Amino acid sequence: MENSGALIVEELDDSRKTLATIIGVLPGFVYRCKNDKDWTMIFVSNQCLDVTGYTPDELKFNKAISFNEVIAEEYRSYLYSRWKALLKVDGMLKEEYKIVRKDGKTRWVLEQGKGVFDEKGKLLYLDGYITDITTRKEAEERLVQKNIELHIAKERAEDSNKLKTAFLANLSHEIRTPMNAILGFSDLLKEEDLQSEQRDNYVEIINNSGNHLLSLINDIIEMSKIETGQISPNLEEVDVNLLMGVVEKSLATTIPSDKKLELKYIQPRVRLTENIKTDPVKLRQILTNLISNSVKFTDVGSVEFWYECNMSEGGSINFFVKDTGIGIDRENHREIFERFNRILNEQTTNRGGSGLGLAIAKAYVEMMGGKIDLESEYGKGSLFKFSIPLIICKRCRTHASGDNLINSEDMTSSMRILVAEDEDTNFLYLSALLSKFNHIIFRAGNGKEAVDLVRDDDTIDLVLMDIKMPILNGFDALKQIKKIRPCLPVIAQTAYALSDDEQSIRAAGFDGYIAKPIMKQQLMDAINSICK
Ligand code: ADP
Repeated sequence: MENSGALIVEELDDSRKTLATIIGVLPGFVYRCKNDKDWTMIFVSNQCLDVTGYTPDELKFNKAISFNEVIAEEYRSYLYSRWKALLKVDGMLKEEYKIVRKDGKTRWVLEQGKGVFDEKGKLLYLDGYITDITTRKEAEERLVQKNIELHIAKERAEDSNKLKTAFLANLSHEIRTPMNAILGFSDLLKEEDLQSEQRDNYVEIINNSGNHLLSLINDIIEMSKIETGQISPNLEEVDVNLLMGVVEKSLATTIPSDKKLELKYIQPRVRLTENIKTDPVKLRQILTNLISNSVKFTDVGSVEFWYECNMSEGGSINFFVKDTGIGIDRENHREIFERFNRILNEQTTNRGGSGLGLAIAKAYVEMMGGKIDLESEYGKGSLFKFSIPLIICKRCRTHASGDNLINSEDMTSSMRILVAEDEDTNFLYLSALLSKFNHIIFRAGNGKEAVDLVRDDDTIDLVLMDIKMPILNGFDALKQIKKIRPCLPVIAQTAYALSDDEQSIRAAGFDGYIAKPIMKQQLMDAINSICK
């Protein structure tokens, strides 16, 4: 009898030891607690220190903290009601929730537990096991996040694909329409019995169509450069008043004669008397895009534009373009700034467009640290506004901001001009323009010839230099010419006509810049500014 008692004690001791070993090697901790609001712990294994940061002694009988307080607040009442429901049916709890460790860090845990009842069915306590599952949870969360991102990216790619398809279909139309006019009317020009008025009319149509094609090509290339991050602002000293005048003058000529439309630059109430620091090429392009849209989408009434200075909050200069045109539904306000997006309805179908103008304007404004917005309702006209930081230049001087307004007839005495140009048609066109003003023209077919001519003839007054030429390009030719005659003005005339091309050409040391196709006024302005 005594022996069997000792055996039982020994067995009990054995299984206690086995249990202790198993509990000791488990990754989490086991507990026995009361079913009260605090989950008062009666027993907790040592691993609770790893999981919660509290020792068993601190947790037992709520000595330092109750387990309820270790549970993250947002899970407390949920866990309480889950236990309550499960105990009614003698079920097993299996829940994942967050705890706040002693060091303040939040961790995910998994709890599995069960009620322990006496033979009469009275609940005595709860037994269970809690383990840290943060690593798994975080991996799951990352996976969910990745899935969401993938889903969004997929939707974006699909949307962008649809947009691109629509853009290409539209582009084909946008190219064919002016091409049709150019080819058709240049054919008609060959007819012998043409009245001079008809001829002028055809030439104007060809001219407008060419310009339209050119701006389309510029927009497409500019947009792709923006998207690949190749464009950045180039800050210069700018006379905003002068720039607004230039914009008004150049856009007034683009209003179709069949529109009863007035383009007005409203003089500001408080006029800037000093130059500001900004990117004049981009600023002019933004204004041009907004005003051209207003002209396109307005048949009668007016297109007005102006600026206002806001000296508070670091200072900004706000530009406005207001029209009395077809207006834009509120629901389209955001999407029209996305590339390729156009509103298609009976009012817009015949007005053409690539859906790039506003996307470029928005990208430029944001690049300069500003914001663009609009107020508009369908049928009630539109007001586009954008603001850029106002950086006043302390030193006050008048700056031509890439243009000046001198009349072409200012061209005074005859000059000896060297045109470096490898393309025959381009040279013929330039010499036709220049000889109207009695200038004497020399031609160099490449950069090297240009350098040789400058070296041999010190009577040359000005060089008009193409950039892309065989043997020696315009940049290298400029360097050599400036070594021979540092003061000889050299103007770049080039088909590298995007905003950053102008920047790199000016940075190379050219005295002026004209983009092809060269307009008469543009050429005269560039030459005049050099003569002055
Ligand atoms: P595009 O004019 O070449 O189509 P934009 O990006 O400049 O491309 O403009 C996108 C769309 O926004 C236009 O197609 C037009 O539907 C709408 N929109 C832009 N400006 C105006 C305006 N002033 N009035 C009415 N609608 C406009």
